[in-house]
Amino acid sequence: MISPLRNSKFLHGSPPSTRGTPTGDPTGTSTTTLRIAETFVSRQGEGSLTGTDSFFIRTSGCNLRCWFCDTPYASWRPEGAPQSIDSLQKAAIDAKVEHVVLTGGEPLLPLESSTLTEALRSIGLHVTIETAGTVDRDVQCDLMSISPKFRSSTPDRTKHPRWHELHQKRRMPIDTMRRLIDRSDDYQVKFVVDAPTDLEELLEVTSALAVPKEKVWVMPQGITPEELDKASMWLSEWTDSQGFRYCDRMHIHWYGNRRGT
Ligand code: SF4
Repeated sequence: MISPLRNSKFLHGSPPSTRGTPTGDPTGTSTTTLRIAETFVSRQGEGSLTGTDSFFIRTSGCNLRCWFCDTPYASWRPEGAPQSIDSLQKAAIDAKVEHVVLTGGEPLLPLESSTLTEALRSIGLHVTIETAGTVDRDVQCDLMSISPKFRSSTPDRTKHPRWHELHQKRRMPIDTMRRLIDRSDDYQVKFVVDAPTDLEELLEVTSALAVPKEKVWVMPQGITPEELDKASMWLSEWTDSQGFRYCDRMHIHWYGNRRGT
């Protein structure tokens, strides 16, 4: 068993952050920008807020490269244009929902994610941050949703030698994840399980994070309802036996694996 915050294989430093673009508007209006892959209104499909109508802001760019990434347009092949915090705040108001989900890519990579979440919370919106937990950003939110990436998420060494090494080095900084949890009003830890071989690492990580079982959500890896249903047959039973919470990826059942959902 791994002692909380002690096992050196998890203790990697955070990568250097990337910045948004402060454009210095002389009128005094904030024109700080973040690169955004997409924004949309949908229902939250995962975790404790499943079914909640939410405005999603997906930042573009990620410091990891999971082989199964379902948003390659925000990681492997990042897309999107800079958008100002003011325009994102206005879009969130126009969405007429009470919840905002800041997701990615890796939304904690831009320094300006702190300013954006402050702006959203200042107008009374509930802010969830969906992160892999690898960037030690001092950011406030209502729900920090951390999804640690198992070693099985690492891309192929032969096809992607540089990303294979970087991904392995960055993916599991337990001390950084713990600080993100400690700064948050509330949190959940979500694991995407690809195969039974991930389960031992899941137990190691939850022990190292020292989080109670009711904060741990276990999800199957899959991008079709058929794949999710097949995995749930063995994974939900194991999850129940451990006292964790099982969580399907409902947006795939509702909408399929497509952008804007
Ligand atoms: S951390 Fe998320 S966005 Fe980044 S590569 Fe992995 S699945 Fe994709």
